[in-house]
Amino acid sequence: MLLCDFHIHTKYSDGSMEMRRTIDLFGQAGFDVIAITDHVVNGDSTLGKLAHRFRYSVTGDIFYRYISNIQEEAERARSKYDMLVIPGIEISKNHLSADKSAHILVIDVHDFIPACMSYEEIFLEAKKQKALIVACHPHHMSPKTDRDTLFLWNNRDKYSRYIDAWEIANRDDVFNVISLKKYPYIANSDFHRPRHLYSWKTLLNCSKDVASIKQCIKHNKGVALTLFRN
Ligand code: ZN
Ligand code: ZN
Repeated sequence: MLLCDFHIHTKYSDGSMEMRRTIDLFGQAGFDVIAITDHVVNGDSTLGKLAHRFRYSVTGDIFYRYISNIQEEAERARSKYDMLVIPGIEISKNHLSADKSAHILVIDVHDFIPACMSYEEIFLEAKKQKALIVACHPHHMSPKTDRDTLFLWNNRDKYSRYIDAWEIANRDDVFNVISLKKYPYIANSDFHRPRHLYSWKTLLNCSKDVASIKQCIKHNKGVALTLFRN
């Protein structure tokens, strides 16, 4: 099966490592498929404005530089490690209230999607680009990690039809509650620093190309979750 991690940050947002070093770390650890998913943060809230001030967000201005950097590195990773690298973003709607906040991975993204658009607009734009939509850390996280992002889970009846998969595990957290619904699931590291390599991961039984991987996650057959430990 393919060892995969679809949630990885670099210095393009709040990750601690440059993209090339990050990709080398995963390549050397034997991964088959990864997605680079730096934050695209909303600018319409106090928290969002802070993220922009500290340059913890990919903006429209640098988006195509970010994507072409991933594509260059993807070519290198394919020849050096036979690892597939997929361009993505993490749309981050940050508000003081956890009930209003949500993070969404858009995997195999091609064009910029501003995080201040409405949820419907974001989902429809991602669908138009044929990207994979993943609801990130959708329930309470361990206190030492990020703020909780509960909007999508609390509004699942309205939005689940747009969501291709839910993170049932993120880094060290497992979201037991969301397993009560029979949604498609994946598990990711939410990688920000080297020690996050050791965390929950996804195994996929499909061929190593973007179309097959998106299909496998959507159908959620031949999918296994594993804890990758040092
Ligand atoms: Zn997040
Ligand atoms: Zn993240």
